[in-house]
Amino acid sequence: MNQPFDFRAFDLFDFCRSGGSTGGEIATHDLPRIIAETADDAPPLAGSEPFAWRMTGSVREEASEPGMAARRRLFLELTVDGRMWLDCQRCLQVYAQPVSTSTRFEIAASEAEAEAAPLDDDEVDVIAGSRRFDLLPLIEDEILLALPVAPKHEICPTVHDSLVTGADGEVESVPDDADAGEEKRPSPFAALAKLKTRH
Ligand SMILES: [Zn+2]
Repeated sequence: MNQPFDFRAFDLFDFCRSGGSTGGEIATHDLPRIIAETADDAPPLAGSEPFAWRMTGSVREEASEPGMAARRRLFLELTVDGRMWLDCQRCLQVYAQPVSTSTRFEIAASEAEAEAAPLDDDEVDVIAGSRRFDLLPLIEDEILLALPVAPKHEICPTVHDSLVTGADGEVESVPDDADAGEEKRPSPFAALAKLKTRH
């Protein structure tokens, strides 16, 4: 193998059979489906933040019935680590959601075989292999699947008065100086703040 490894077009079957292992980083702006889900008011440099990925291939020979050919199963472990900017559903401010996934895939010979794979094995997702496999969509899938259904800060930094009775009524802390800090920097709350009435 003298050619540089291209994670957007490589032989996934060979990679797994030979127990390959490699990794790298990909910038958020090279992941179109991640950009599409990124909060509008994410920091300007959010697009250049990288996701680190690593994948390791393996092959397992399964014991077979006498007279039957041994079954060879190919597997790929993929880990993806980084962060993504989302809007907090509680305070509506942008925040960085850490993403850290590790998934084991079984490689099927074709789409048809992947579709036909039994769904009873919870430990392994079956995907179709290819001689020119593109890892990028799989990295995107992993990031998107790792996102919380309801994105939220663990603890919101400030909660505006008008939002205290939110849908879930769930407000951990409303610091006394929240308003003082709020008004010094421009934020999507500027408009709301003007409508605010103090009690
Ligand atoms: Zn929040």
